[in-house]
Amino acid sequence: MSPPRTDLAELEVGELEGALDAQEVERFHARQIYRWIYKRGVTEVDRMTDLSRTLREAIKAEFVLSTPRVVADDRSVDGTRKFALELADLRRIEAVFIPDTPSMTFCISTQVGCAMACGFCLTGKMGLVRNLTAGEIAGQVRVLAAATGMLDHPFHIVLMGMGEPLHNYDSTMKALRILHSERGLAVSPRRVTLSTVGIIPGLERLAREPLMPNLAISLHATTDAQRTALVPPNRKYPLADILEVCRRFPLKTRRRITFEYVLLDEVNDTPEDARRLGRLLNGIKSKVNLIPLNPAPGIPYDRPSDERVDRFAQILADRHITVSVRKSRGRDIRAACGQLIVEGGTKASAAQQMALLMP
Ligand code: SF4
Repeated sequence: MSPPRTDLAELEVGELEGALDAQEVERFHARQIYRWIYKRGVTEVDRMTDLSRTLREAIKAEFVLSTPRVVADDRSVDGTRKFALELADLRRIEAVFIPDTPSMTFCISTQVGCAMACGFCLTGKMGLVRNLTAGEIAGQVRVLAAATGMLDHPFHIVLMGMGEPLHNYDSTMKALRILHSERGLAVSPRRVTLSTVGIIPGLERLAREPLMPNLAISLHATTDAQRTALVPPNRKYPLADILEVCRRFPLKTRRRITFEYVLLDEVNDTPEDARRLGRLLNGIKSKVNLIPLNPAPGIPYDRPSDERVDRFAQILADRHITVSVRKSRGRDIRAACGQLIVEGGTKASAAQQMALLMP
């Protein structure tokens, strides 16, 4: 049996140069191949027409190019587009394009399912099916950029789809390096936001990364008892420890950590919660993004009234904390936060945390 072919989608440009070298192909072709894949959105080697036919045949003999396949593209009246993508093993994930937020944003997944089991999230209910590879994470961006005509335009990426990025650390960071390459999409880390429940070993590794995205912590509660009920990893990584890591986190100039807080009616949305949140964030360069829950079947919580949301936001603002309330987008196509469900895959799934977190 012949050995499996190397997947071009999984290679950083330096790795591709090395792989071509090993096949006695000139290294500079790596830059051409990268340009075709990432700048022009090409998914077949045969379409890389500035490579000779002989070279294309040689590349096809040694390499494949895996690309997530669009199996659904639902459009909201507000311009949001929800894509269902099928992977090589027929698993399905979802990724969302959110226009004008104020720029263009792709919200992508890092795992099929999620092991974190947050109480307000449908993805958490399915458990972890598997990690995505770096090529599958970066592949979502090239597919969405091609489908939305954004290959030549600046956009933001939020790692807030299915999965916990720091639970799939190596693939997530490799995907960001692939996307960062000047030979490809050249996505600056300033345009990427990584959202995590606060896996402390992952945060400590992230603090040493040369290519550091913006950081968002999914906080969602102000006491350990309540947070453990809503975000079970809190049992292992309690609030005080996460906030201590945040205090020490090496932020670049003018950057702040975003704290996301899903507001659940009469659960974590009281004035006392707001005041406690203000105290917890003391000494951290932070901003708060409030996310009124988008109710979904199977989620035992309700959305608070606008009055409750406004009161919570005002208490934080009175303490000079920058606070924003996330607008819901794409609700008519179930693309809003907590409403994504892939049907017809190997397992029903949903993505939480989709939408408008901007650095
Ligand atoms: S909210 Fe995020 S971390 Fe929590 S279960 Fe859902 S996908 Fe996982």
